[in-house]
Amino acid sequence: MESSLWDELQRRMGELRDFGSVVGLLTWDQETFMPKGSAEARAVQLSAMQALIHERLTDPRLGELLEAAAADADETRAAMVRNLARERARAVKVPPRLVRELAETQARAVEAWRAARSERRFALFQPWLERLLELRREQADAIGGGAERYDALLDAHEPGMSVARIEPLFAELERALVPIVATLADGQRPPAWDYAGLRFPADAQWEFTLHLLGEMGFDLERGRQDRSTHPFTDGIHRDDVRLTTRIAEEEPFLAIFSTIHEGGHGLYEQNLPADHARDPIGQAASMGLHESQSRLWENMIGRSLAFWRRQLPALRRFFPAQLEGVEPEAIYAAVNQVRRSPIRTDADEVTYNLHILLRFQLELAMLRGDLRVADLPGAWNERMRRDVGIEPLHDGEGVLQDIHWAWAEFGYFPTYTLGNLYAAILRERIDVDLGGLDRVIEEGSLHAVRDWLVERVHAVGHRWDAEEIVERATGQKLTVAPFLRYLREKYGALYGAAL
Ligand code: ZN
Repeated sequence: MESSLWDELQRRMGELRDFGSVVGLLTWDQETFMPKGSAEARAVQLSAMQALIHERLTDPRLGELLEAAAADADETRAAMVRNLARERARAVKVPPRLVRELAETQARAVEAWRAARSERRFALFQPWLERLLELRREQADAIGGGAERYDALLDAHEPGMSVARIEPLFAELERALVPIVATLADGQRPPAWDYAGLRFPADAQWEFTLHLLGEMGFDLERGRQDRSTHPFTDGIHRDDVRLTTRIAEEEPFLAIFSTIHEGGHGLYEQNLPADHARDPIGQAASMGLHESQSRLWENMIGRSLAFWRRQLPALRRFFPAQLEGVEPEAIYAAVNQVRRSPIRTDADEVTYNLHILLRFQLELAMLRGDLRVADLPGAWNERMRRDVGIEPLHDGEGVLQDIHWAWAEFGYFPTYTLGNLYAAILRERIDVDLGGLDRVIEEGSLHAVRDWLVERVHAVGHRWDAEEIVERATGQKLTVAPFLRYLREKYGALYGAAL
């Protein structure tokens, strides 16, 4: 490709990334410090920015440039072009009328969902869910590309992944998890620290979360942490990564694990390749790979015994009276309790995937036309009873608990489980390469873990799709075996159970 044409393409790529950063900053502000009264004005500003991005992305000139560059043999350029061409195809193929209708219906569906959830009546949300599914079906058909409709929606969050690839993996995972959950939930619980009735002042909790971010190697010169009701990470730019955490004075682990989780996301964003900060390689490869980073840190590191052997003395400095006489083993048991819960966000790491698999299978069945929306609550409750062993008391703690479907997000849930699977594969390799992950954690050398992840995952950016990144980093293909090995080893020992 002629260099003047490549320069023009690169300029356009950079501009699109800059606009994306502006949207990120506006959104972060909206979720944190924006005054309540600004909501209307902010919505207008955001939609103006989105329209501008859409206009630039669908500009025929960009299409010409991408086509001309497609023949370029350079591997790096080819990856940039592939990523942007995918994004552009999704924008071009969907008629503006459908985009508008989806946005308007989503906004009203969320309101209907809130009302339905507080009244615990699915019927109030049902017509909206039917309409959203109809619109998403239309969108998926317009995009096309996969062997089935769901693929087009999944691809937006997990580029390169397909139902054909994940359905058998998830079925295998489900078969293995159901008996493990049954054994652990019904088994004898190891003695755990009981902190009911104790208070943990917010200021001290805040200081401890900053200490944890430092231990993980999160750079507070190129990022910050604030508080919000729902913790999240906003990667505005690799040099501007914003995390939030949530503090509750009676529940110290809420802030601790929110910070570690979002810190895992934040490390990924901060260490994306600097040379590609303004092009389509300098971004996360998928939502699943993003989630693998947060879950590796939160569950596999933060909820390990080695971590509490190392961090308990630090936590004790902030809460000497509350932690008097408490041993690391008691904290370890307290943060790894396996319980049947109808609520996904309350679930431990053993049962968590069963909540996801249920959602994946139900949304897939609805998109395929195999399950009517009217039959959804019944199907939900039946599967919950069968797999998790508990039945929701009402729709509010059942089918209405998550906002995702009200946002018309179908094809998003699987990325949580993919994240757990990728994390376990990465963990096995880190364990080998660093000569024992637990030893490294207990010595307080978490920077060594971060450095491994930076080199093998973060700094790769979106040069390849997620599964290929993990395979190149570890030599392992995506399977459920490492995750099951991890669970069996950890919980078998903790619960003294044969799993
Ligand atoms: Zn996350």
